Amino acid sequence: MTTVRTRIAPSPTGDPHVGTAYIALFNLCFARLHGGQFILRIEDTDQLRSTRESEQQIFDALRWLGLEWDEGPDVGGPHGPYRQSERGDIYKKYSDELVTKGHAFPCFCSAERLERMRAQQMAKKETPRYDGHCMHLAPDEALRRIAAGESYVTRMKVPSEGICVVPDMLRGDVEIPWDRMDMQVLMKADGLPTYFLANVVDDHLMGITHVLRGEEWLPSAPKLIKLYEYFGWEQPALCYMPLLRNPDKSKLSKRKNPTSITFYQRMGFLPEAMLNYLGRMGWSMPDEREKFTLREMIEHFDIQRVSLGGPIFDMEKLSWLNGQWIRELSVDAFATQVQKWALNHEYLMKITPHVQGRVETFSQIEPLAGFFFRGALDLDPALFVHKKLDADQVRQLLQLILWKLEALRQWEKDRITGCIQSVSEHLGLKLRDAMPLMFAAITGQASSVSVLDAMEILGPDLTRFRLRQALELLGGASKKETNEWEKLLASIA
Ligand code: GLU
Repeated sequence: MTTVRTRIAPSPTGDPHVGTAYIALFNLCFARLHGGQFILRIEDTDQLRSTRESEQQIFDALRWLGLEWDEGPDVGGPHGPYRQSERGDIYKKYSDELVTKGHAFPCFCSAERLERMRAQQMAKKETPRYDGHCMHLAPDEALRRIAAGESYVTRMKVPSEGICVVPDMLRGDVEIPWDRMDMQVLMKADGLPTYFLANVVDDHLMGITHVLRGEEWLPSAPKLIKLYEYFGWEQPALCYMPLLRNPDKSKLSKRKNPTSITFYQRMGFLPEAMLNYLGRMGWSMPDEREKFTLREMIEHFDIQRVSLGGPIFDMEKLSWLNGQWIRELSVDAFATQVQKWALNHEYLMKITPHVQGRVETFSQIEPLAGFFFRGALDLDPALFVHKKLDADQVRQLLQLILWKLEALRQWEKDRITGCIQSVSEHLGLKLRDAMPLMFAAITGQASSVSVLDAMEILGPDLTRFRLRQALELLGGASKKETNEWEKLLASIA
């Protein structure tokens, strides 16, 4: 019998997402239950958006939760490399194979031509799809154009009619009409593969037997299935996990709910409780008990117990569960966990340089710098009354800064300052005009230690959370304002 092998394949393009941990957890449980292996593969073919920092954060966040993988970029294994950016040659070979077999073709269409085609299809109320223009080029003409250095992509052929049956472990057979599928690009003009090609090739070469992934990938499943068929490879079993949702049932998004695992770490949640909560997303123990460990989850795991209604990720419920875990810790374990959280030497060493010169006794530390140890703050609306700006302008400034900081990848004081400065200047203000609002939102006080340093130390999660909290306190942003301000944002350097 083949060994069960599952994997998680995150793209390192942002904060480590709770959705990634949720899918990782279920893949891990499935593999462990069957005595198999769980693999971590980094899908970093999007060169512009992928970063090593983000990759490291994914490793750290999953490890903090207690999820361990048997093979991966950092632990090695017999099927490496486990980073797609290091597997470039492999994809080219398989893409060429598909062209030779007549299942894929080089496409020379310019961006302008594709844009025109799309506009015409939209005008006719058709689903935009590649029209097959380059599909019938004679092979020697295609070769001649490639040799002449013309830019091209490789597209896969897909049937234009009929139905693709996707066998899903949770839903049974799902029927998806082929006319919804586009002739997917497999290799981009820069020679890098797209998700579809790289994902199928790697799952095959890495011996993955079961693919548990998020439901958002279900609509594109036919393309993957077709690729397995074109290559003549056995398709892994497929399982599309229900998506996590905000309490209002919309797809979990950071605009409504913090989605970064590191946020929950900084807020002082226990990793065990967090994992327990993720295990309750669409799944339950046979005896319905709410509190369970990873080991217990594996012991009682049954993928068929996943229910398809969208599981709601609710911070209040998570807090309740965390409270259960906290109260069952021994006093000693509690103290150790608190130390690990923020009363540790490393964190104090970051704070101390900003505090030492401003206090005469240690007991003055808390009033000055207690905000370093808090999650949400009791914000004072009076502190957001600004000398130069009216209430609407204050909200606008906060929102623009928040968006800028949400997009900031390297969390360093100079870059943080740069974001605040560029927004301020764009609105005809100076950096120092924005400072009273930053103090109010981040420290909850009119003055404190340097707020720019504080933002760097607090990290992106808590900083953004507090700015969002301040914005909400002041009434948030209406739909109309959001649209207008987003346009403004685009013009800020
Ligand atoms: N790289 C994809 C992602 O980031 C992987 C999806 C899959 O599991 O196939 O979600």
